[in-house]
Amino acid sequence: MAPFVVGSQKPEARNNTTALEQRIGLATSVIMPLLEFGAIGYVTWVLCYLICVQYLINPAADLRLHGVEPRKATGIALIVVYAILLLMLLIPWLRLLHVIWTKPDILQPADPATEKENADSTAMEQYNAYVCDYEGAPLFCDKCRIFKPDRTHHCKELGHCVRKMDHYCPWAGGIIAETTHKYFMQFVFFAALYTTFLWVVVAVFFAERVSKVRTWIGALVVGVLFCIFTFTMSCMTGYNLAINYTSVEAIQRGGITNIAFLVTRMPNEQASPPTSYNNSNKELEADDDWPVLRMVRRSGGRMFVVMQTKPFQHPWSTSMMEGWKDTMGESPLDWFLPLRHSPCKQRSRSGEFRWGEVVYDMASKYQKDNPGAQLAILEGRR
Ligand SMILES: [Zn+2]
Repeated sequence: MAPFVVGSQKPEARNNTTALEQRIGLATSVIMPLLEFGAIGYVTWVLCYLICVQYLINPAADLRLHGVEPRKATGIALIVVYAILLLMLLIPWLRLLHVIWTKPDILQPADPATEKENADSTAMEQYNAYVCDYEGAPLFCDKCRIFKPDRTHHCKELGHCVRKMDHYCPWAGGIIAETTHKYFMQFVFFAALYTTFLWVVVAVFFAERVSKVRTWIGALVVGVLFCIFTFTMSCMTGYNLAINYTSVEAIQRGGITNIAFLVTRMPNEQASPPTSYNNSNKELEADDDWPVLRMVRRSGGRMFVVMQTKPFQHPWSTSMMEGWKDTMGESPLDWFLPLRHSPCKQRSRSGEFRWGEVVYDMASKYQKDNPGAQLAILEGRR
């Protein structure tokens, strides 16, 4: 079976979601955080008041009869650590919600009557390389009627295209994408720390206490469930950031990507670059033998050569540390503080996002095979 093209849409995915489905999606992204804030209030009451105050700092007379002695220092220390962990959870979460509500990654659709031929593609074609279809045009969203910047995906819950979309997360309060990904990572990481502390403390004193209390069990269950959930999410999100895949791209892993490279000097002989798909149908054995699909003239008369990656080659793959830093920031301080936006938001002439080595290797191979040709992406790299 031929590999699918990354960014293409399956026919069944083309049906528009109804306005009702979108309203349900939006409502859950408000209701879920409210329920979670309620759960935080409940476990705070159990841990700080019932366990720390009523059990450790000032145990009631009947508890003292069962040999429970006051442990003021332990109770106060646990409240202090809990308060710090709660703050470390709430600060990135409120930052995340703030950024979600300012909608920096959501693209506005064009007039529904806009034809692909008339849509404006110059924003993508200004770059030295961009992801394209077989004709060399940037990828087009059938629903928004716009050309999509690289790594943009149409979000059915929002009914809009979203830049570098990862996933729609009602638990966190909305869309996780280019700007929110960093704060989401911090949110799930600190949520995992917070819930681990919560269930461990409750479990320790629950095991010690002779007369079991139902309210403690509730906090224990909430702590364990959310710990499993947030710990899994932090591992998955951290790994995806390091390999520089969004969740959408991870699902499409194994596909091929067409990339248009800006040509600043044509090859000496025009015979070399093929102008049809023929090459893509051939089984190309060598790892560095990338199919050249066509030459195409785009907006402003700029000439591009369209090449295709091999299956499983991700155009933005770098080293794991570089991938991590692209979203989380340069310094460890950036990784933990929800202040500065991700470095991947900065644009350069090369492309919408920093290209991985495979894209430069493709360009070099093209220049090697086509003497005299010069691709803009390689200028200034030597
Ligand atoms: Zn769209």
